Amino acid sequence: MNIWCLIVISLLKAVESSDTTFPLNRHHDYEELTQVLRTTNAKCKDITSLTSIGRSVEGRELWVMVFSINSTHHTPGVPEFKYVANMHGNEVVGREVLIDLVQYFCDEYHKGNKTIVDLITNVRIHIMPSMNPDGYEKAAKLPGYPKDYVRGRKNAANYDLNRNFPDFDKIACRTGDSNRLAYNRAYVSEAVRGIKIQPETEAVAEWIMSIPFVLSANLHGGDVVANYPFDESCDGELRHYQGCPDDAIFRQLSSAYSNGNSQMAGSTGCSQDDDFHDGTTNGAAWYSIGGGMQDFNYLASNCFEITIEMSCVKFPPAYSLPVFWQLNQNAMIDYIYQSTCGVKGFLYDAASGAPVPDAAVIVEGIHHVVYSAADGDYWRLLVAGNYAIRVQAQGYELSEIKTVQIPECRPYSAVELNFNLKKTNRRETAKETDDTLQRLRSVLLSIQQ
Ligand SMILES: [Zn+2]
Repeated sequence: MNIWCLIVISLLKAVESSDTTFPLNRHHDYEELTQVLRTTNAKCKDITSLTSIGRSVEGRELWVMVFSINSTHHTPGVPEFKYVANMHGNEVVGREVLIDLVQYFCDEYHKGNKTIVDLITNVRIHIMPSMNPDGYEKAAKLPGYPKDYVRGRKNAANYDLNRNFPDFDKIACRTGDSNRLAYNRAYVSEAVRGIKIQPETEAVAEWIMSIPFVLSANLHGGDVVANYPFDESCDGELRHYQGCPDDAIFRQLSSAYSNGNSQMAGSTGCSQDDDFHDGTTNGAAWYSIGGGMQDFNYLASNCFEITIEMSCVKFPPAYSLPVFWQLNQNAMIDYIYQSTCGVKGFLYDAASGAPVPDAAVIVEGIHHVVYSAADGDYWRLLVAGNYAIRVQAQGYELSEIKTVQIPECRPYSAVELNFNLKKTNRRETAKETDDTLQRLRSVLLSIQQ
């Protein structure tokens, strides 16, 4: 008997003795997934809301379950976090562990589990168990195990959704600019050239742009590793480390997940071609792809996203699912904690005290900025160290530089740093037109017409 079998058996025993009140050892098709979400929403009305952000090609809802003590809206100062799974319809472990996670959150919150109560009080958590429900149904209908390696991967119109996002990488490579590229009409036009944006992609892109997400993970299968930006190499090489300006924090984010999962922590990969270290890899160093969701998050919005490969087998038998819950349960929570680290705060108009949205929070030495949200709140994930930070907002003078010491990440350890901004005396040059600040949807629509 090999070591992996021993691990599976011992974990299954551990799972049997755990006190979960929901079944862990079954797959959920679209109807069952919908039912679990509705039941959980009804059971935990006080901390959940269930919404569909759009529909798949075949008309299935793209469900998102939100957990928060204010689940229906953004609370100023509270970070927004998301998990997305099953973007490739035949990669199902992420889908099932998120179905477990929603039930676990609901049950444990009502039991008064302090860890979960604190988490749901301090972070707004969005959970999308399936971004590709059509692909899932196709894969699930195949009889027996192991299932075909590729059937059901793509959406119903035969598009790989993780190659279907506007490809801003090429623009970032050329210009060195990595900041909110989706707000530039010419860039969007270039980034969507040759890509037929699918309804699932458009719904998720719009969702990413419409909520001030801080942190995210995209759950896949077929290997065991945490993969971080960039996913696409600038020189066109298939395997070439392409770090982004936030490489240091992305390594930390990936390690936070990997270290929480005993199988991933030591993973060198499922394939002989893999060369992972401590269960993490740069995306382009593994293999370069264009049009991925992870890089879209970084280049189009404030959100930092990594991609988690959760299992060597993409569609494992139902009896093995409890092991994956056991392996990922703590890692999923540890990873959410990362959204509560770094530096955060509010930007105010010095004279009126009004919040200042859309202001750039600039960290000296890192060529990537985050922008304040509608309530003037911002979050900036950073590894431990000393930083010089200032803020630039349209119509205001460049702020003073403030220095801040960021400690090692522990839950809720973000340092608070607020700025009061003085209005500039200079007469405003013509205010940026809506053209350059349009949301992605309207830009895409106008281009595709
Ligand atoms: Zn995948």
